[in-house]
Amino acid sequence: MSTNKELMQRRSNAVPRGVGQIHPIFAARAENCRVWDVEGREYLDFAGGIAVLNTGHLHPEVIRAVEEQLKKLSHTCFQVLAYEPYLELCEILNQKVPGDFPKKTLLVTTGSEAVENAVKIARAATKRNGTIAFTGAYHGRTHYTLSLTGKVAPYSAGMGLMPGHVYRALYPCALHGVSDDDAIASIHRIFKNDAAPEDIAAIVIEPVQGEGGFYATSPAFMQRLRDLCDEHGIMLIADEVQSGAGRTGTFFAMEQMGVAADITTFAKSIAGGFPLAGVTGRAEVMDAIAPGGLGGTYAGSPIACAAALAVIKVFEQDDLLQKANAVGDALREGLLAIAEKHREIGDVRGLGAMIAIELFEDGDAHKPHAALTAEIVARARDKGLILLSCGPYYNVLRILVPLTVEKAQIEQGLAIIAECFDEATQ
Ligand code: PMP
Repeated sequence: MSTNKELMQRRSNAVPRGVGQIHPIFAARAENCRVWDVEGREYLDFAGGIAVLNTGHLHPEVIRAVEEQLKKLSHTCFQVLAYEPYLELCEILNQKVPGDFPKKTLLVTTGSEAVENAVKIARAATKRNGTIAFTGAYHGRTHYTLSLTGKVAPYSAGMGLMPGHVYRALYPCALHGVSDDDAIASIHRIFKNDAAPEDIAAIVIEPVQGEGGFYATSPAFMQRLRDLCDEHGIMLIADEVQSGAGRTGTFFAMEQMGVAADITTFAKSIAGGFPLAGVTGRAEVMDAIAPGGLGGTYAGSPIACAAALAVIKVFEQDDLLQKANAVGDALREGLLAIAEKHREIGDVRGLGAMIAIELFEDGDAHKPHAALTAEIVARARDKGLILLSCGPYYNVLRILVPLTVEKAQIEQGLAIIAECFDEATQ
């Protein structure tokens, strides 16, 4: 049996360092909220493979659907010979994605690819080539999505300038002094200084920023963005790769924003651990690209489609949206209690079960506390809890626990986090 240490050594010889790794652990198996490493040690998983496991590791219904599909068909390439699970999933998503208008859906493999395609579609539909994205945004690691991503290091540092025609607006964040008015004004500044609105194809926004720190926009802000887009014929793209698939207590976070995007991207938890992503949008917009302009060899694989159809069923059968809200409430309450004892926790926030805390030195919002955040993540791991950080200054602890978590496991996780803060700040 290899140890974590031995495997980490082999990894450093075989895999480029650019593929970072948060925890020096090799996983061997997993079940719902628990993971066991190669040495047999058990961990409680509050990371969910970065927002991929809303239905938990290896949900029995998802595995059953995948096993059944595996016996029938694993690949034909949808553009060569189509298959029904792809179609069925698109029909369901056309209903589920917010927006009271006819929709069409394209399936791809990763979140980055979904965002790339969303922008391509917006460009084709508007015959324009500018895009507005936000500070702190994360939209992927492909070349164009790196332009959209609002954090240079580590994502695009050292690779030269990324493709052009992307303009950066301020993401509203009251905690750090950016009001909704400031954010809207930053878009008007782009229109005045950088690019006319009639050259902007799309505004791309995460309704709740994921990697950027779990900051949520308000419905009032989203309404203003919608109005701006309508006034200038700009496509509003909601990137729901991290906030979607039930994490925020509605299947898509935009359902809580009171307005609909023209184009929505999704990925991660949509297929319960299998690689699937997609783009849903206004039917006429989605048809802007001619046959052959969309797709990919593995895009919407039958296996991943079967998994996604099962995930959607599990959400209904297990009432997981209601569970997301209950999990979110329990986490918020527990974290607020820890924050009362530790002034370093300057904010407890989130939508549904997309919950985070932000750490500051002396509780001062101008002094992000990355060192303490890293220490809590490391201490928690030593105590058997897998956590993730995020945010522009690495000072946000985010929780993406499966929504299928048991109450006792939430309590166990919170107790470990409390212990870590007690030990790290004494
Ligand atoms: N958009 C958002 C909002 C994301 O959180 C991510 C992944 N963290 C992506 C896009 C990219 O997804 P992928 O890693 O599957 O390419």
